[in-house]
Amino acid sequence: MVSDLNIPVAKSAELATRLRRSFPGGDTRTSTFYTPFPLAIVRGEGCRIEDVDGNEYIDLLNNFTALIHGHAFGPVAEALGQQALMGTAFPAPGAQQAELAEAIHSRVDSVDLIRFTNSGSEAVMMAVRAARAHTGRERLIKLDGGYHGSWEQVPMTLGDERPLRGIPGPSRDLVEMVDANDVGALEDAVARAEGVLAAIILEPVMGEGVVVLEDEFLLAARRLADSAGALLIFDEVISARLEHGGRQAATPVSPDLTTMGKMIGGGLPVGAFGGRAEVMEGFDPGQTGHLEHAGTYNGNVMTMAAGVATLAALDEAEVERINALGEDLTARLDGALADSPFDGRVLGCGSLLHLHLDTASEDIRCFADTNLGSANLRRFHRAGLEEGLFFATRGLMAISTAMGPEVIDEIEGRFLRVIDRVAAQAEG
Ligand code: PLP
Repeated sequence: MVSDLNIPVAKSAELATRLRRSFPGGDTRTSTFYTPFPLAIVRGEGCRIEDVDGNEYIDLLNNFTALIHGHAFGPVAEALGQQALMGTAFPAPGAQQAELAEAIHSRVDSVDLIRFTNSGSEAVMMAVRAARAHTGRERLIKLDGGYHGSWEQVPMTLGDERPLRGIPGPSRDLVEMVDANDVGALEDAVARAEGVLAAIILEPVMGEGVVVLEDEFLLAARRLADSAGALLIFDEVISARLEHGGRQAATPVSPDLTTMGKMIGGGLPVGAFGGRAEVMEGFDPGQTGHLEHAGTYNGNVMTMAAGVATLAALDEAEVERINALGEDLTARLDGALADSPFDGRVLGCGSLLHLHLDTASEDIRCFADTNLGSANLRRFHRAGLEEGLFFATRGLMAISTAMGPEVIDEIEGRFLRVIDRVAAQAEG
């Protein structure tokens, strides 16, 4: 396979050819794919990763925000090593589950009861099941561009037909999209769903674009869900990292249910959903008519061990420290773009950042204002790889606790060279 990246890629190319024999597109995860083929990563330590050809990168993606402590974090590696020697999976509960659940209860006030899943997608499926069972209704309202995993009933956007292929017709009627931060649109959608609305589901900070939901919109969502007799679900799979108590701790409202994932598993596959006791109690298998939630690896001991070690090392001071690093980096990269020939900016919220180029609107308040398919964004991604910066093709970046001020300086220096590279290509 041929790549025009200006770094050695022969071994990644060889592997890509091999992978394509087994996987359509040569990959098994839509979000990690880019053309002509994604580079194969072989190792990571702290905030640095290395690909199969020996190229090194500062990892600004951290497995799409999941690795909050970076790679090969000592306490997680140690906990996993100890657990592996004691067995890796049991069809029975254990103290590790209690420990991780208690760590989450002690942080996230709205979570009275919780259950673990193996992914954020499953957590969303189960939270929706809980909401539907509790209300006896089916319809969901979600935000356009809100990503809630690969489940067909929560497509990311209706503006793009692609994610809807394969979704049965009736499912499309079960979900309605509104623009983020548009209170009027939300009011209208809730009115249209009178008597059939099960839940409003939203990310308090959207992973696609790092668009922050304004207090006024969140207050409206809470008020409208209540008046419609529906539940409010916060999907905090990404945003939980933004505050010690999850992003919800910084908002004026409390959700009925919360979904989590990514960082709470310390780098292992995980998801969780939890919330008000009266809603979650429906999952008690000891009750007749209980809700089904099986899963061979739910609450798996390895994941629990990694999650406990991760949260133990993530106290309030660490959350604040990486948020401050993220805000500093956001300001620096945004400033660099302002001084560049590009129509670009960086939106940030604490330890999350998002690179935007050629956006549809100056003021980015919803997904329609972004332009995540921008050709310049793709150019920045490629030039990022060439300068040793690893971030999402769509521009998402996340700070890990493995970073300090000197790494932020290094990232800024590399980003300035990325701008020069893309500008030189445009001239050439
Ligand atoms: N919800 C949100 C907000 C996410 O960002 C993601 C994944 O990126 C998911 C749900 C799905 O999680 P998973 O990829 O673990 O299935």
